[in-house]
Amino acid sequence: MEVAYTIEELRQARRRICVAFAPEDERHPRVGFVPTMGNLHEGHMCLVKRMTDECEVSVVSIFVNPTQFAPGEDFDEYPRTPDADLMQCEDAGVDLVFFPEEDQLYLEDHSTEIVVHRLTERYCGAARPGHFAGVALVVAKLLNIVQPDIAYFGQKDYQQFRVIERMVRDLDFPVALSMCATVRESDGLAMSSRNAYLKGDDRKAAATIYQGLQVLAEAFAAGERDSAALKEAARAELAEPVRLEYLEIADAWSLEPKQSAARGDVVLVAAHVGETRLIDNIVLAAGEENAN
Ligand code: AMP
Repeated sequence: MEVAYTIEELRQARRRICVAFAPEDERHPRVGFVPTMGNLHEGHMCLVKRMTDECEVSVVSIFVNPTQFAPGEDFDEYPRTPDADLMQCEDAGVDLVFFPEEDQLYLEDHSTEIVVHRLTERYCGAARPGHFAGVALVVAKLLNIVQPDIAYFGQKDYQQFRVIERMVRDLDFPVALSMCATVRESDGLAMSSRNAYLKGDDRKAAATIYQGLQVLAEAFAAGERDSAALKEAARAELAEPVRLEYLEIADAWSLEPKQSAARGDVVLVAAHVGETRLIDNIVLAAGEENAN
């Protein structure tokens, strides 16, 4: 496995690995890419596994992106575990890790913004002003640097996926996107680097977020279609000190709220447990297990 710390190193290594794979340049090996902020857990590694299964060349980036954190958010405290991350990538058969410092990606006078309108107005976009502009900017830059054929993202960050998908379509990035199902702890809590902030009773209470989503999915499967009633069923499951930020049933593509739920709609939730902000979602499926 190679580790590139600069854009130039990344480009050279990518070229070298691709040429080594197809020396006569007859076949273009498929290049896969998983962008992350590090502190890798099973959720990330599920994306990596899908990538190594589907692609001849696999690239992971590790970069805690400052532009997607608002002032006062947890940028400084965000867990950083570079040695363990590199070992996990190596064990998983990743070919190339991009591990840039901040000044590699952001020159002092960088002046370009990417704003995906509408999809970013609600939910996490409303709660975290500038967050999705930061995400779109860093993902656009990483796609230009790595030039993957397929990029892998988690369903865990559902709104983020739709925002990136729209950006990729609107700006004609030559990349296919793949969404991987949310990986969960045994009690259902979606795996997240931020779960490490949760201790004792807060950690237990956090699991009721997914329990609420499951109860909602069961009510939907049993025939309930009224969004207000469905959301109330989920809310009733939440234990103290879980504090809802938003809970909405939305169209899977436009993310517009729905009065009446339909199969394929997404249920989006964000909640605070103490100082920790958690997000989760499920896609509604009628009469069968919900699609995570
Ligand atoms: P992050 O390091 O939090 O920026 O996440 C990097 C990628 O991993 C994003 O595409 C996330 O959606 C994905 N991811 C994070 N947690 C999970 C999870 N529990 N299950 C599936 N994918 C995840």
